[in-house]
Amino acid sequence: MIHNTRISKRVKEKHKKAIRSIIKGLSRKVEVYKQPRKLECPNCYFDKFTESSTGKCKWTPVQAIQQQIDYEDEGGEDIRYRYFKFGRCPVCRGQGYLTTQRKVWADCIVTWDPQAGRNSVTYTPAGTEGSTIVQLKTDPKNYDLFKNSSG
Ligand SMILES: [Zn+2]
Repeated sequence: MIHNTRISKRVKEKHKKAIRSIIKGLSRKVEVYKQPRKLECPNCYFDKFTESSTGKCKWTPVQAIQQQIDYEDEGGEDIRYRYFKFGRCPVCRGQGYLTTQRKVWADCIVTWDPQAGRNSVTYTPAGTEGSTIVQLKTDPKNYDLFKNSSG
């Protein structure tokens, strides 16, 4: 390992640029599905014992409308608050919770893994492999992403 002070800044920048362009050529955008997030239904009371909806709305009709307006004001797009008298909650369909599928794109270095068999590609998250090239692209944000991904 060469100590940092022994390489001039200019050389380092040049080196970085070259490596960046190599990575750009090797990396692919990969769609990552994060673990679906479970969110207690905002519209009905959740029953912890049966792990489903109690079938009771949290709101009066007026409150439900107001909550939905507030939610949309904050950028919400789906129906989160809708009054119902009893029975199956229209928001969570009686489940008591909402699951949101989270999908993100990440830059990856695509490598072949001979051990995984023919025609299989492993998507190695940039930054977690040992080589110097990949290390330079380390993005802790992406690393967390892959640790938490479901597939
Ligand atoms: Zn509900």
